[in-house]
Amino acid sequence: MDVFGKLTAHDFGEVHFKADKSTQLRAIVAIHDSRLGPALGGCRFIEYDTDDAAFIDALRLARGMTYKAALAGLPHGGGKSVIIRPKQRFDRVALFRAFGRFINDLRGHYITAEDSGTGLEDMEIIRGQTKWVTGIDPTHGGSGDPSPFTALGVRRGIEACVKFKLGKADLQGVHVAVQGVGHVGYHLCRELHASGAKLTVADVDKLKSERARREFGAAITDINTIAETDCDVFAPCALGAGLNDDTIPHLRAPIVAGAANNQLAEVRHGEDLHARGILYAPDYAINAGGLVNVAQEVKGYDAKLAREGTLKIYDTIWDICERSKRLGAPTHKVADILVEEKLGASARA
Ligand code: NAD
Repeated sequence: MDVFGKLTAHDFGEVHFKADKSTQLRAIVAIHDSRLGPALGGCRFIEYDTDDAAFIDALRLARGMTYKAALAGLPHGGGKSVIIRPKQRFDRVALFRAFGRFINDLRGHYITAEDSGTGLEDMEIIRGQTKWVTGIDPTHGGSGDPSPFTALGVRRGIEACVKFKLGKADLQGVHVAVQGVGHVGYHLCRELHASGAKLTVADVDKLKSERARREFGAAITDINTIAETDCDVFAPCALGAGLNDDTIPHLRAPIVAGAANNQLAEVRHGEDLHARGILYAPDYAINAGGLVNVAQEVKGYDAKLAREGTLKIYDTIWDICERSKRLGAPTHKVADILVEEKLGASARA
């Protein structure tokens, strides 16, 4: 692989590798940008078909974290780590201890957290080796599950979009279709229900949709047609790439605003939404609440400050909407420009 070519293509940065034979640890820490502060981002622990795939995943994810942290006004750069899940039997505690030592060697230049395939228990093991870890148990001063904060930020983002696009000051009677009612989707439904919104949900796991129906009076629809719901807001809260050539022509909601990462299958799909007059809340702008929460943990966790920081997502989304209207530019482009301005300003300071 053309390693430096890939780094250039993703605007990097630095990358660290660690192999530890005795524990089967094979890990990559990608630090995309640290102009705004130490890189913060989760640790992904999944199987990869090839080492190249793991490397590219780390680069792509770390770059996304730079954008998310900068737009949320956090004093952090973007980083991400990837541990390639061993195909043979392995000792999880020993492996995460070795990973913790690796993180410690980076002396705070990168701070880790949970991501796909890792959880609180793993962060606790890492904590035994280094202080550069977040997402730890609240009984040890950690911030715990980030999903309620992510959901709070998404609810605020939806409020901003509804005010901007529909001229409504609150969510009373606003119809939101939530795709995926897992960790974030469930808490989002709770937030929206408390605000008087009407809900339609779909999840591959029927028990989860059923819980949303029971607790929040949500209507349940098919996972294949949720994007076509005749509603005010479509909220993708499942997987990425849900906004694509197949779904966009069928959207009936004037607003798309949800928690999922990488919602646009390709950048051009943001342009397509804009051309159709659909207001899209850029994913990394609206779903930053969980990151705001773990970033608080770096300073000494304070739930009140984490909440206040998350509530500001309303202003960020509002600002993006206004600029998009003024410039006639799609919202995802406006968000990128805002980040690039912040990074450029920090480089000049
Ligand atoms: P989760 O796995 O708990 O929930 C996802 C839900 O989507 C599950 O219930 C799953 O059954 C359902 N699902 C999967 N495919 C579906 C489909 N085709 N149609 C309908 N439902 C489907 O994950 P989560 O933590 O709630 O995260 C949801 C999304 O938000 C992800 O894209 C994640 O990257 C993003 N995100 C999460 C956080 C966080 O704090 N957890 C923060 C930022 C972004």
